[in-house]
Amino acid sequence: MHKIGLLTSGGDAPGMNAAIRAVVRASAGWNIPVVGFRRGFQGLCEGDYWALTPRDVANIIQRGGTILKSGRSPTFLTPQGRQKAVEVLKSLNVTGLIVIGGDGSFRGAEIFQKESGIPVVGIPGTIDNDIPGTDFTVGFDTAVSTIVQAVDRVRDTADSHDRLFIIEVMGRRTPFLALQSAVACGAEDVVVPGLHDDFSRVLWRVQSAQQRGKRSSIILVTEDNQPGLSYKLAEFLQNQGIPEVKVLILGHQQRGGSPSPWDRWLASKMGVLATEWLIQGKSGVFVAYQKGNWVAVSFEEVQNVTKPMDWELLDLCYRLAL
Ligand code: ADP
Repeated sequence: MHKIGLLTSGGDAPGMNAAIRAVVRASAGWNIPVVGFRRGFQGLCEGDYWALTPRDVANIIQRGGTILKSGRSPTFLTPQGRQKAVEVLKSLNVTGLIVIGGDGSFRGAEIFQKESGIPVVGIPGTIDNDIPGTDFTVGFDTAVSTIVQAVDRVRDTADSHDRLFIIEVMGRRTPFLALQSAVACGAEDVVVPGLHDDFSRVLWRVQSAQQRGKRSSIILVTEDNQPGLSYKLAEFLQNQGIPEVKVLILGHQQRGGSPSPWDRWLASKMGVLATEWLIQGKSGVFVAYQKGNWVAVSFEEVQNVTKPMDWELLDLCYRLAL
Protein backbone atom coordinates (compact mmCIF):
# COMPACT_ATOMS: atom_id res chain seq x y z
CA MET A 1 0.00 0.00 0.00
CA HIS A 2 1.66 3.24 -1.18
CA LYS A 3 -0.91 5.81 -0.20
CA ILE A 4 -4.49 5.65 1.16
CA GLY A 5 -7.35 7.76 -0.21
CA LEU A 6 -10.10 8.78 2.21
CA LEU A 7 -13.49 10.42 1.79
CA THR A 8 -16.78 11.05 3.60
CA SER A 9 -19.88 10.63 1.46
CA GLY A 10 -23.67 11.01 1.61
CA GLY A 11 -25.34 12.57 4.66
CA ASP A 12 -22.90 13.76 7.31
CA ALA A 13 -22.94 12.10 10.73
CA PRO A 14 -21.34 13.01 14.08
CA GLY A 15 -18.22 10.91 14.53
CA MET A 16 -17.05 11.12 10.91
CA ASN A 17 -14.21 13.39 12.07
CA ALA A 18 -13.18 10.87 14.72
CA ALA A 19 -13.02 8.23 11.96
CA ILE A 20 -10.92 10.51 9.72
CA ARG A 21 -8.52 11.13 12.61
CA ALA A 22 -8.24 7.39 13.29
CA VAL A 23 -7.48 6.52 9.66
CA VAL A 24 -4.85 9.25 9.32
CA ARG A 25 -3.09 8.39 12.57
CA ALA A 26 -3.28 4.61 12.15
CA SER A 27 -1.81 5.00 8.65
CA ALA A 28 0.95 7.23 10.03
CA GLY A 29 1.88 4.35 12.33
CA TRP A 30 2.53 2.28 9.17
CA ASN A 31 4.30 5.20 7.45
CA ILE A 32 1.58 5.33 4.83
CA PRO A 33 0.43 8.81 3.73
CA VAL A 34 -3.29 9.65 3.47
CA VAL A 35 -4.95 11.83 0.88
CA GLY A 36 -8.41 13.11 1.81
CA PHE A 37 -10.87 13.94 -0.98
CA ARG A 38 -13.33 16.76 -0.38
CA ARG A 39 -17.13 16.51 -0.86
CA GLY A 40 -17.20 12.72 -1.17
CA PHE A 41 -16.95 11.03 -4.55
CA GLN A 42 -17.32 14.41 -6.28
CA GLY A 43 -13.94 15.58 -4.96
CA LEU A 44 -12.48 12.22 -5.95
CA CYS A 45 -13.67 12.68 -9.56
CA GLU A 46 -12.40 16.29 -9.63
CA GLY A 47 -9.07 15.62 -7.93
CA ASP A 48 -9.95 17.99 -5.09
CA TYR A 49 -7.68 16.60 -2.39
CA TRP A 50 -5.87 17.38 0.88
CA ALA A 51 -2.70 15.53 1.93
CA LEU A 52 -3.66 14.86 5.55
CA THR A 53 -1.00 14.67 8.25
CA PRO A 54 -1.52 13.60 11.87
CA ARG A 55 -1.37 17.32 12.82
CA ASP A 56 -4.20 18.18 10.39
CA VAL A 57 -6.55 15.92 12.33
CA ALA A 58 -5.70 17.38 15.75
CA ASN A 59 -8.61 18.71 17.80
CA ILE A 60 -11.35 17.24 15.59
CA ILE A 61 -12.40 14.13 17.56
CA GLN A 62 -15.06 16.19 19.35
CA ARG A 63 -16.36 18.03 16.28
CA GLY A 64 -19.56 17.13 14.44
CA GLY A 65 -19.79 17.20 10.63
CA THR A 66 -16.73 16.31 8.57
CA ILE A 67 -13.61 18.37 7.86
CA LEU A 68 -13.49 16.71 4.43
CA LYS A 69 -17.04 17.88 3.74
CA SER A 70 -19.57 15.46 2.34
CA GLY A 71 -21.99 15.39 -0.52
CA ARG A 72 -23.74 13.49 -3.23
CA SER A 73 -21.96 13.06 -6.54
CA PRO A 74 -23.90 12.75 -9.80
CA THR A 75 -20.56 12.49 -11.69
CA PHE A 76 -19.60 9.29 -9.84
CA LEU A 77 -22.87 7.66 -10.90
CA THR A 78 -21.56 7.50 -14.50
CA PRO A 79 -18.82 5.12 -15.78
CA GLN A 80 -17.01 8.16 -17.24
CA GLY A 81 -17.04 9.88 -13.85
CA ARG A 82 -15.67 6.78 -12.13
CA GLN A 83 -12.96 6.53 -14.83
CA LYS A 84 -11.91 10.07 -13.90
CA ALA A 85 -11.70 8.96 -10.28
CA VAL A 86 -9.40 6.07 -11.28
CA GLU A 87 -7.13 8.51 -13.15
CA VAL A 88 -7.00 10.85 -10.15
CA LEU A 89 -6.02 8.00 -7.81
CA LYS A 90 -3.38 6.71 -10.23
CA SER A 91 -1.89 10.19 -10.70
CA LEU A 92 -1.55 10.53 -6.92
CA ASN A 93 -0.19 6.99 -6.49
CA VAL A 94 -3.13 6.13 -4.21
CA THR A 95 -3.50 2.35 -4.09
CA GLY A 96 -6.42 1.90 -1.70
CA LEU A 97 -9.52 3.83 -0.67
CA ILE A 98 -11.51 4.16 2.56
CA VAL A 99 -15.10 5.36 2.21
CA ILE A 100 -17.00 6.65 5.24
CA GLY A 101 -20.71 6.82 4.45
CA GLY A 102 -24.11 5.18 4.25
CA ASP A 103 -25.62 2.45 2.10
CA GLY A 104 -25.61 4.61 -1.07
CA SER A 105 -21.92 5.34 -0.64
CA PHE A 106 -21.26 1.63 -0.15
CA ARG A 107 -23.10 0.89 -3.42
CA GLY A 108 -20.78 3.33 -5.17
CA ALA A 109 -17.74 1.85 -3.40
CA GLU A 110 -18.69 -1.69 -4.45
CA ILE A 111 -19.12 -0.78 -8.12
CA PHE A 112 -15.89 1.21 -8.08
CA GLN A 113 -13.70 -1.49 -6.59
CA LYS A 114 -15.10 -4.08 -9.01
CA GLU A 115 -14.61 -1.87 -12.06
CA SER A 116 -11.21 -0.44 -11.17
CA GLY A 117 -9.59 -3.24 -9.18
CA ILE A 118 -8.57 -0.60 -6.61
CA PRO A 119 -9.20 -1.98 -3.09
CA VAL A 120 -11.91 -0.21 -1.08
CA VAL A 121 -12.87 -0.64 2.59
CA GLY A 122 -15.91 1.07 4.15
CA ILE A 123 -16.74 2.59 7.52
CA PRO A 124 -20.50 2.78 8.17
CA GLY A 125 -21.31 6.42 8.94
CA THR A 126 -24.96 7.46 9.06
CA ILE A 127 -27.30 8.65 11.80
CA ASP A 128 -30.00 6.30 10.45
CA ASN A 129 -28.30 3.04 11.56
CA ASP A 130 -29.92 1.40 8.53
CA ILE A 131 -26.93 -0.56 7.20
CA PRO A 132 -27.53 -4.33 7.50
CA GLY A 133 -24.71 -6.41 8.98
CA THR A 134 -23.68 -3.96 11.71
CA ASP A 135 -25.44 -3.34 15.02
CA PHE A 136 -24.34 0.31 15.02
CA THR A 137 -23.25 2.95 12.56
CA VAL A 138 -21.14 6.00 13.45
CA GLY A 139 -23.47 8.91 14.30
CA PHE A 140 -26.52 6.96 15.41
CA ASP A 141 -25.91 7.16 19.15
CA THR A 142 -25.36 10.94 19.02
CA ALA A 143 -28.53 11.47 16.98
CA VAL A 144 -30.54 9.40 19.48
CA SER A 145 -29.13 11.55 22.31
CA THR A 146 -30.11 14.72 20.46
CA ILE A 147 -33.64 13.43 19.94
CA VAL A 148 -34.02 12.31 23.55
CA GLN A 149 -32.80 15.67 24.88
CA ALA A 150 -35.30 17.49 22.66
CA VAL A 151 -38.16 15.19 23.70
CA ASP A 152 -37.31 15.63 27.39
CA ARG A 153 -37.73 19.39 27.00
CA VAL A 154 -40.98 19.05 25.07
CA ARG A 155 -42.29 16.65 27.70
CA ASP A 156 -42.19 19.45 30.29
CA THR A 157 -44.68 21.45 28.23
CA ALA A 158 -46.71 18.39 27.25
CA ASP A 159 -47.08 17.56 30.92
CA SER A 160 -47.84 21.13 32.09
CA HIS A 161 -50.56 21.61 29.46
CA ASP A 162 -51.92 18.04 29.19
CA ARG A 163 -51.04 17.88 25.53
CA LEU A 164 -50.27 15.25 22.96
CA PHE A 165 -47.03 15.97 21.07
CA ILE A 166 -46.07 14.38 17.78
CA ILE A 167 -42.33 14.65 17.27
CA GLU A 168 -40.93 13.91 13.84
CA VAL A 169 -37.44 12.46 13.57
CA MET A 170 -35.13 11.58 10.68
CA GLY A 171 -34.62 8.05 9.40
CA ARG A 172 -35.79 8.06 5.78
CA ARG A 173 -38.51 5.43 6.26
CA THR A 174 -36.27 3.30 8.51
CA PRO A 175 -37.42 2.79 12.09
CA PHE A 176 -34.18 2.68 14.08
CA LEU A 177 -33.80 6.31 15.21
CA ALA A 178 -37.45 6.54 16.20
CA LEU A 179 -37.54 3.16 17.96
CA GLN A 180 -34.38 3.55 20.02
CA SER A 181 -35.38 7.10 20.99
CA ALA A 182 -38.95 6.05 21.80
CA VAL A 183 -37.77 3.54 24.39
CA ALA A 184 -35.26 6.02 25.83
CA CYS A 185 -37.79 8.82 26.23
CA GLY A 186 -40.86 6.78 27.13
CA ALA A 187 -42.94 7.53 24.04
CA GLU A 188 -46.47 6.18 23.64
CA ASP A 189 -46.08 5.02 20.05
CA VAL A 190 -43.86 5.07 16.97
CA VAL A 191 -45.04 5.65 13.42
CA VAL A 192 -42.80 4.51 10.58
CA PRO A 193 -43.96 5.03 6.99
CA GLY A 194 -44.24 1.74 5.17
CA LEU A 195 -44.45 -0.19 8.42
CA HIS A 196 -47.20 1.64 10.27
CA ASP A 197 -49.37 3.45 7.79
CA ASP A 198 -52.51 2.80 9.79
CA PHE A 199 -53.14 5.87 11.94
CA SER A 200 -56.17 4.23 13.62
CA ARG A 201 -53.80 2.13 15.74
CA VAL A 202 -52.22 5.34 17.08
CA LEU A 203 -55.70 6.71 17.81
CA TRP A 204 -56.55 3.55 19.72
CA ARG A 205 -53.34 3.78 21.76
CA VAL A 206 -53.87 7.46 22.57
CA GLN A 207 -57.51 6.89 23.55
CA SER A 208 -56.70 3.92 25.77
CA ALA A 209 -53.87 5.90 27.41
CA GLN A 210 -56.35 8.67 28.17
CA GLN A 211 -58.78 6.13 29.63
CA ARG A 212 -55.99 4.96 31.92
CA GLY A 213 -55.67 8.52 33.18
CA LYS A 214 -52.73 9.64 31.06
CA ARG A 215 -53.09 13.33 30.22
CA SER A 216 -50.05 13.85 28.00
CA SER A 217 -48.25 11.63 25.52
CA ILE A 218 -45.41 11.69 23.05
CA ILE A 219 -45.56 9.98 19.66
CA LEU A 220 -42.46 9.70 17.50
CA VAL A 221 -42.89 9.73 13.72
CA THR A 222 -40.16 8.87 11.22
CA GLU A 223 -40.15 11.40 8.42
CA ASP A 224 -41.06 10.05 5.02
CA ASN A 225 -38.90 10.99 2.02
CA GLN A 226 -39.78 14.57 2.98
CA PRO A 227 -40.67 15.93 6.44
CA GLY A 228 -44.34 16.62 7.21
CA LEU A 229 -46.03 13.25 7.87
CA SER A 230 -46.67 14.42 11.45
CA TYR A 231 -49.10 17.08 10.27
CA LYS A 232 -51.21 14.40 8.55
CA LEU A 233 -51.27 12.35 11.74
CA ALA A 234 -52.15 15.42 13.83
CA GLU A 235 -55.02 16.28 11.49
CA PHE A 236 -56.31 12.72 11.62
CA LEU A 237 -56.22 12.62 15.44
CA GLN A 238 -57.88 16.03 15.78
CA ASN A 239 -60.63 14.98 13.35
CA GLN A 240 -61.21 12.00 15.65
CA GLY A 241 -61.71 14.25 18.65
CA ILE A 242 -58.24 14.39 20.24
CA PRO A 243 -57.79 18.04 21.30
CA GLU A 244 -54.66 20.16 21.14
CA VAL A 245 -52.30 17.96 19.17
CA LYS A 246 -48.94 19.70 18.74
CA VAL A 247 -46.29 18.91 16.14
CA LEU A 248 -42.53 19.36 16.32
CA ILE A 249 -40.25 18.48 13.41
CA LEU A 250 -36.72 18.15 14.75
CA GLY A 251 -34.98 18.44 11.36
CA HIS A 252 -31.29 18.91 10.77
CA GLN A 253 -30.28 19.50 14.38
CA GLN A 254 -30.32 15.67 14.57
CA ARG A 255 -27.31 15.49 12.24
CA GLY A 256 -25.16 17.99 14.07
CA GLY A 257 -23.42 18.35 17.39
CA SER A 258 -20.45 16.91 19.15
CA PRO A 259 -20.31 13.10 18.82
CA SER A 260 -21.12 11.05 21.91
CA PRO A 261 -18.32 9.10 23.62
CA TRP A 262 -19.76 5.89 22.10
CA ASP A 263 -19.64 7.31 18.56
CA ARG A 264 -16.08 8.57 19.08
CA TRP A 265 -15.05 5.14 20.31
CA LEU A 266 -16.84 3.30 17.48
CA ALA A 267 -15.38 5.66 14.86
CA SER A 268 -11.87 5.36 16.30
CA LYS A 269 -11.97 1.58 16.37
CA MET A 270 -13.54 1.33 12.91
CA GLY A 271 -11.01 3.80 11.48
CA VAL A 272 -8.07 1.78 12.75
CA LEU A 273 -9.53 -1.55 11.57
CA ALA A 274 -10.42 -0.20 8.11
CA THR A 275 -6.83 1.00 7.71
CA GLU A 276 -5.32 -2.28 8.87
CA TRP A 277 -7.65 -4.36 6.71
CA LEU A 278 -6.83 -2.27 3.63
CA ILE A 279 -3.09 -2.64 4.29
CA GLN A 280 -3.56 -6.40 4.78
CA GLY A 281 -5.21 -6.63 1.35
CA LYS A 282 -8.91 -6.77 2.20
CA SER A 283 -11.28 -5.13 -0.27
CA GLY A 284 -15.00 -4.81 -0.98
CA VAL A 285 -15.85 -4.97 2.73
CA PHE A 286 -16.87 -2.60 5.51
CA VAL A 287 -16.12 -2.71 9.23
CA ALA A 288 -19.13 -4.05 11.12
CA TYR A 289 -19.83 -4.35 14.84
CA GLN A 290 -21.85 -7.46 15.64
CA LYS A 291 -22.64 -8.24 19.27
CA GLY A 292 -19.26 -7.04 20.49
CA ASN A 293 -17.27 -8.54 17.61
CA TRP A 294 -15.58 -6.81 14.67
CA VAL A 295 -16.54 -8.41 11.38
CA ALA A 296 -15.67 -7.69 7.73
CA VAL A 297 -18.99 -7.67 5.87
CA SER A 298 -18.91 -7.50 2.07
CA PHE A 299 -20.66 -4.59 0.36
CA GLU A 300 -22.27 -7.15 -1.92
CA GLU A 301 -23.83 -9.06 0.97
CA VAL A 302 -25.89 -6.07 2.12
CA GLN A 303 -26.91 -4.72 -1.24
CA ASN A 304 -30.67 -4.86 -1.79
CA VAL A 305 -31.04 -6.10 1.79
CA THR A 306 -33.17 -4.16 4.25
CA LYS A 307 -32.04 -4.15 7.86
CA PRO A 308 -34.77 -6.01 9.75
CA MET A 309 -37.15 -4.11 11.98
CA ASP A 310 -36.44 -4.57 15.70
CA TRP A 311 -39.85 -5.77 16.86
CA GLU A 312 -38.53 -6.44 20.37
CA LEU A 313 -37.76 -2.75 20.76
CA LEU A 314 -41.28 -1.80 19.70
CA ASP A 315 -42.66 -4.36 22.14
CA LEU A 316 -40.51 -2.84 24.90
CA CYS A 317 -41.84 0.62 24.07
CA TYR A 318 -45.47 -0.62 24.26
CA ARG A 319 -45.02 -2.62 27.44
CA LEU A 320 -43.52 0.34 29.27
CA ALA A 321 -45.95 2.98 27.99
CA LEU A 322 -48.69 1.99 30.39
P1 ADP B 1 -25.62 7.65 1.75
O1 ADP B 1 -24.24 7.09 1.60
O2 ADP B 1 -25.75 8.55 2.95
O3 ADP B 1 -26.69 6.57 1.69
P2 ADP B 1 -26.33 8.50 -1.00
O4 ADP B 1 -27.36 7.42 -1.20
O5 ADP B 1 -26.72 9.85 -1.44
O6 ADP B 1 -25.85 8.65 0.52
O7 ADP B 1 -25.01 8.07 -1.79
C1 ADP B 1 -23.86 8.89 -1.76
C2 ADP B 1 -23.15 8.85 -3.08
O8 ADP B 1 -22.72 7.52 -3.39
C3 ADP B 1 -23.96 9.26 -4.30
O9 ADP B 1 -24.06 10.66 -4.46
C4 ADP B 1 -23.14 8.66 -5.44
O10 ADP B 1 -22.04 9.48 -5.75
C5 ADP B 1 -22.62 7.36 -4.81
N1 ADP B 1 -23.48 6.26 -5.26
C6 ADP B 1 -24.64 5.84 -4.75
N2 ADP B 1 -25.17 4.83 -5.47
C7 ADP B 1 -24.30 4.61 -6.48
C8 ADP B 1 -24.27 3.73 -7.61
N3 ADP B 1 -25.25 2.83 -7.83
N4 ADP B 1 -23.21 3.81 -8.45
C9 ADP B 1 -22.21 4.68 -8.23
N5 ADP B 1 -22.20 5.56 -7.21
C10 ADP B 1 -23.22 5.53 -6.35
